[in-house]
Amino acid sequence: MANVRLNPFTCPTCGNGTLVNVEIDEDTIKNAERLPKAVTAKCSNDHILVLYVDGSFKIRDIEAALNASEDKKDSLDQTEDWLSGL
Ligand SMILES: [Zn+2]
Repeated sequence: MANVRLNPFTCPTCGNGTLVNVEIDEDTIKNAERLPKAVTAKCSNDHILVLYVDGSFKIRDIEAALNASEDKKDSLDQTEDWLSGL
């Protein structure tokens, strides 16, 4: 089990350029049923963010979790366990 550090990204909710550093478990991507995989992250101001990470551990999309659209609720449910472990 190894962690992979993603490229730092700007929190879309802060709106002031706050950089977020995230490490995810390599297996989260390797064992994903489909990619990009939705993973949750938190910025330093406690905004919950959903990242869509592809097979190369690159972030394809970033959403604020509370604004996630209906069709993405399933992926959010799947990451709830992970979220509660933060
Ligand atoms: Zn933020």
